[in-house]
Amino acid sequence: MLNKKILLIAACCLILSSCGSDHSSAKKNGSNSTQNLSSGANSPAATNQEDVAVESNDNALNSENGQASEEDMEQLATTPDALEIPEFKYHINKAYRVAPNEEGIEKKVVLLTFDDGPKEQEMLEVMLDTLDKHEAKAIFFVNGYRVKSNPDLLKLIHKRGQIIGNHSWDHIDLKKEAADSARKQVEDVQQIVSETIGESPRFFRPPFGSGNDALHGIVEENEMIYMTWSNGSLDWDAKFKNKPEGIINNVMEQLHPGSNILMHELPWTAEALDELLTRIKAEGYGFVDPRTISVQPQDSPDS
Ligand SMILES: [Zn+2]
Repeated sequence: MLNKKILLIAACCLILSSCGSDHSSAKKNGSNSTQNLSSGANSPAATNQEDVAVESNDNALNSENGQASEEDMEQLATTPDALEIPEFKYHINKAYRVAPNEEGIEKKVVLLTFDDGPKEQEMLEVMLDTLDKHEAKAIFFVNGYRVKSNPDLLKLIHKRGQIIGNHSWDHIDLKKEAADSARKQVEDVQQIVSETIGESPRFFRPPFGSGNDALHGIVEENEMIYMTWSNGSLDWDAKFKNKPEGIINNVMEQLHPGSNILMHELPWTAEALDELLTRIKAEGYGFVDPRTISVQPQDSPDS
């Protein structure tokens, strides 16, 4: 009798523990809180993630013997956070700040952005390591001509889980360009980035923050979110060249909920970054994951 009881208890434990592991793996896949990887900027947030997982598995099983080849597995393993895309929570408002899509979402956040790359591996690696240290994601707004010279650096940014944005091909004032020339400046970058890392940018920032209605239209047609910034670090200003402390002070003085922080791939910014992120966190701010930024919902609190 006693033995039977023990057996029964043991069987229950076994069932419970296997239930537990099922639950945890379901949670890890996060089917309720993830986006479909292939979704564009306009897609709804809560698309089931399983489609993506199935697609990836199909690819992995495409090799001759029906088993995933080493190359396939490596490709899956190096796709950054492929199965962990968070849901849309924020948008860029008219003042180019990051704002919550609905009440109840944390307002005290900042968006980190770095323009004018990809430039130089050593500096870039310092920035990527610092972002990792603070578990922060940023948008790297790149120029097409630099991507053409440094495709491996673009791949590095992407592989390290950071987000690529479009900053035009030549870094020219697009407001002064004819519409067809401005379109080429935008769309050639979409193309080279897509060819290099397999996906096109979802974010656009015009050089010098300079744009017009035609440019807004072109960016929208390419399913990108347009932004300038709301907190300029002035790291591009000759006055702050080689002055990391000055850059930190500039950002901290302007810090506000939803700060869209403009920085550049520059050595003194790379040097300032660790201390800057530490101080932003000490003020109680979090870092927005750019993948959680959608187009502005019609019924958002600030629409
Ligand atoms: Zn720029």
